[in-house]
Amino acid sequence: MQVHQSSLSLSAPSAPCDHVVPAGMTLEQVVDRIQLDGPGHLLVAHEDGSLAGVISTEELLLRMSAADAVERLKWSRRPIESILSAVITPVAPAAIETPTYIDIPAPPESLSPWPCTAYFHRGRLQAVSTDDDVLLSWKSIEPFLLGAARDAVTGLVTRTSFLRSFECELARARRNQKPLSIVLIDIDFFKQINDCAGHATGDVVLNLIAGAICTSVRSYDLVARFAGDEFVALCCECIPDQVQLPISRIQQAISSLPLPSAFPLPQVTLSIGVASVSTVSEDLTCEALLEAADDCLYTAKRQGRNRAYCTLLEGGRRSEPRPIETLPSLTEAATQLHAAARNQRQRRSDPYEPVLFPIA
Ligand code: GH3
Ligand code: MG
Repeated sequence: MQVHQSSLSLSAPSAPCDHVVPAGMTLEQVVDRIQLDGPGHLLVAHEDGSLAGVISTEELLLRMSAADAVERLKWSRRPIESILSAVITPVAPAAIETPTYIDIPAPPESLSPWPCTAYFHRGRLQAVSTDDDVLLSWKSIEPFLLGAARDAVTGLVTRTSFLRSFECELARARRNQKPLSIVLIDIDFFKQINDCAGHATGDVVLNLIAGAICTSVRSYDLVARFAGDEFVALCCECIPDQVQLPISRIQQAISSLPLPSAFPLPQVTLSIGVASVSTVSEDLTCEALLEAADDCLYTAKRQGRNRAYCTLLEGGRRSEPRPIETLPSLTEAATQLHAAARNQRQRRSDPYEPVLFPIA
């Protein structure tokens, strides 16, 4: 074990701080500001100087190079703190207004140089211990922090972690006057799967469903495991009418889920409740949105399961839950179109004359 008595020298306050970016800056602004061959990790700081978290430049660039142009654009406009996988100081909605600089106070004279003990392992600095604290290497604690924020069965973020992000997204939607939809998803008769195939198979099914939900929403939407067999998805900037698309994709993905074949499992279905808001009012809370989505979920259960219901929150009022129709899958739509074209051709003298369909 190598332990070094050492001292940290703090840089002059006027020196450029390439490693630090303020919370509230968009991903695009951060990419413009940093040197791409510069530091591998960035510290994200609140306006008051407290540390919000750490993000690797690799992960940042990954989001900005999403294959889909719409997703790239959406990512580029998101604030840097929204992609932190482990949040150190919760982002208070008020603290992410529009900070444009970080005022780093000069270190007190007494701290410079700073006596400490440096601990190395295999040539890498692991920790620095001072009189009143310990600074741990980010790389060594990141897996532990990520594990704590994620559910072990599905790999999705936990309810606690989700609720923190939900608060921030709601505040952001309110500030930018953007719509938002919250989707609660519960597996129908999941207990039967556990009972007939065992808990381990139940876990596999939970994992498959989590994957199906994640691939059915946009990459910047937030998906979490909310409770035992319940999931939640936050569809940011999704107007009430647009939520039909991810819901249909989820239902289609579930209908063709590759279930474990060791046991004859019943077809898995989902009941879904959605609460949407076009403009977030000052007094609208996350709890109110979740409660509204939960009411819709229970309407779906009461109406026979395997269906989705939604409600719209507007001007302090909540609309009656209404069913969401499942859109046909692309394959189904193509089959319907071909069948319609064939029918039309059969009724005409020239079977090869092109058939034109009016665009709805
Ligand atoms: P409903 O259609 O009304 O939702 O019926 P259900 O059987 O899905 O609902 P219920 O709430 O009675 O059952 C949920 C089950 O989920 C009960 C619990 O044993 C199971 N469960 C919760 N967490 C886990 C888990 O991590 N793994 C497994 N395998 N099962 C879990
Ligand atoms: Mg259930």
